[in-house]
Amino acid sequence: MKTIGLIGGMSWESSMLYYQIINERVKERRGGHHSAKSLLYSVDFQEIKDLQDQGNWAEATKVMIESAQKLEAGGADVIVICTNTMHKMAPEVGNSVSIPLLHIADATAAKIVSDQIKKVALLGTAFTMEQEFYKGRLKSQFGLEVVVPDEADRAVIHEIIYQELCLGIVDEHSKKKYLDIIDRLIQKGAEAVILGCTEITMLISQEDCSIPVYDTTRLHAEAAVDFALGDEV
Ligand code: GLU
Repeated sequence: MKTIGLIGGMSWESSMLYYQIINERVKERRGGHHSAKSLLYSVDFQEIKDLQDQGNWAEATKVMIESAQKLEAGGADVIVICTNTMHKMAPEVGNSVSIPLLHIADATAAKIVSDQIKKVALLGTAFTMEQEFYKGRLKSQFGLEVVVPDEADRAVIHEIIYQELCLGIVDEHSKKKYLDIIDRLIQKGAEAVILGCTEITMLISQEDCSIPVYDTTRLHAEAAVDFALGDEV
């Protein structure tokens, strides 16, 4: 079994889910008392959020690169960045280590493509919904058509992520707002929805939605286990 290196703490609420899913998946595949070999480098999220708010992506990239290098030095065989947003600098992080980086959008898109879905809604932080690092990859590498909420709805999604979900607050009114936004995206032709922020799964699940839901946290964590175990049964 290979050792999974997790860059977490963004937020720790979702890193906790990664840890749980990864271990459950290893147990499911290997049985007995098997659990995942993993290393977690968990940042102080306030520092990262400040850099995001200042638009200081160069410094944020440095922090991510240092985190990845610490994991590699500690014996990790693969890097998993436990947030969609911080895949903005995934190319730089990947190039800074000699072990592979498992991209969250790839783990997600692979499943969407295998389910033969073509047009997909993307929910996430404003950075993820508005910039090209994520949408662009879904389009250019996987041929997906991506729809995002309109500006007002994007602001609602973004605020709820940072002011509630990243602080562990799960609110029924916010859930209703998300579901209304998903309905509007269905009107725009979305056949499925990507929970493109690793905390959204705390609020929305498949049972809430009439279209398929792709939970990036679960898909990414499971891809990490599949990488770590390879063909081991
Ligand atoms: N966990 C979130 C994501 O998946 C947002 C927190 C962050 O800014 O990294 O995008």
